[in-house]
Amino acid sequence: MPALTEKKRPASRSAGRPAAELIFGDLWTFDPAPETADPKLKSRYDLFIGGKFVAPSSGKYFESINPANETKLAEIAHANAADVDAAYAAAQKAFSTWGKMPGKERAKYIYRLARLLQDRAREFAVAETMDGGKPIKESRDFDVPMAAAHFFYHAGWADKFDYVAPGRKVAPLGVVGQVIPWNFPLLMMAWKLAPALAMGNCVVIKPAETTSITALKFGEIIADAGLPPGVINIVSGFGDTGAAVMTHPTAAKVAFTGSTEVGKIIMRSLAGTDKKMTMELGGKAANIVFDDAPLDQAVEGIVNGIFFNQGHVCCAGSRLLVHEPVAAAVLAKLKARVRTLRVGDPLDKNTDIGAINSREQLDKITELVASGVKDGADLFQPAGKLPGKGYYYRPTIFSNVTMSHRIAREEIFGPVLSVMTFRTLDEAVEKANNTAYGLSAGVWTDKGSRILKMSTELKAGVVWANTYNKFDPTSPFGGYKESGFGREGGRQGLLDYAKLI
Ligand code: ADP
Repeated sequence: MPALTEKKRPASRSAGRPAAELIFGDLWTFDPAPETADPKLKSRYDLFIGGKFVAPSSGKYFESINPANETKLAEIAHANAADVDAAYAAAQKAFSTWGKMPGKERAKYIYRLARLLQDRAREFAVAETMDGGKPIKESRDFDVPMAAAHFFYHAGWADKFDYVAPGRKVAPLGVVGQVIPWNFPLLMMAWKLAPALAMGNCVVIKPAETTSITALKFGEIIADAGLPPGVINIVSGFGDTGAAVMTHPTAAKVAFTGSTEVGKIIMRSLAGTDKKMTMELGGKAANIVFDDAPLDQAVEGIVNGIFFNQGHVCCAGSRLLVHEPVAAAVLAKLKARVRTLRVGDPLDKNTDIGAINSREQLDKITELVASGVKDGADLFQPAGKLPGKGYYYRPTIFSNVTMSHRIAREEIFGPVLSVMTFRTLDEAVEKANNTAYGLSAGVWTDKGSRILKMSTELKAGVVWANTYNKFDPTSPFGGYKESGFGREGGRQGLLDYAKLI
């Protein structure tokens, strides 16, 4: 929406006046600093079933596009119901040994997965960035190391299950079906695989259609780690493949991360079965700034909360609630900070905001932003040139938003922040909880007592205090209300993959 973007600022400031702020936009040219590691992509990726790469039985492949420049990266196999059947059969067969293997033996394999991923970290980071559009500094410093950390953490649990549920024994469920989204492809895979494997389950997993490459590359690591064939099976495809994975009669449990809409479809189709389920769905988190908060730190947290991974984050702090006395100051600081963000080539180490994952997602963001303008909110977008090719969107801040606006209620899943104000703590809690979702929230204040009160009253699975988007494998993550149920990470996440005896 170029007509609404901020006017380009003149390069030289008015004579004699001190500079009030740093202005970047597209006025400073940075030398490019591209990451150059070879992602070692194949031109075609087959399904990974029974420890081997196999062609899909339909012979069909679809294209995976680099959203940064709209070029084709590879062809990806489209699994049909027969392939999903084969994957479940392989997993069922593997379960007869993997499920009985002593935990300390299973741990060795899981440690190996973690170490092999670390060995190939740069290669995986580049592949993740090319396939999904996220800045290389994020895939390099967050996605890949955090994925390895999940395997390390759960490997550490595998020989200690006598202590995971005091007074009870635990046993694996059997074969589990998992479907993951496109925003953190490798990391979501690690979140799902690591606890399932550690507990002794075997897996059939489906990556998202726009980001299957790192999952299928992980098949190479699984083979190199010598994991018994069939313990992990990877079937790529679209919603039809996902539905076949979720509804397969062999699955003792299904775990899904994705939209609330698809989560509801899956729950409806599984109603009446005895399958265990965990659902990690959408969010519309409130990031709440009180007047006693350290404002500069809060601004960094707000920026991280909404612009991390282009805002393609289910727990993104997409609603900013600011205490009225500091609202004007926070908004001014925020706009100044957002002007310094660099949007562009995700493979450039200087890039803060990379490419939007797909044309479809870009259209969805554009439509929701247009609704915000139509509803009467004030739009701010910094100046700066966007690359000519690829899917990009400027960081966007809406102020004067009211609770009835679509941009305050619907998950945008893009770099778009809706700013509202509040006068009292009760009003902040009421506004924060006035949503169908309940995945996460942030609180910025100097007072410990206020943090404790807010974290009790906010109906959100995770409440961050004076920080945002902090993750750790030891810490359970999951939602309330339409954000889903079940936890991933920590002891709680492990127990979601166990039978208690
Ligand atoms: P998002 O686009 O927000 O990630 P989706 O819920 O559309 O959300 O996609 C998440 C994952 O669910 C993807 O891997 C997708 O292929 C898969 N999927 C889509 N439709 C279905 C369905 N009906 N049953 C199971 N999985 C599905």
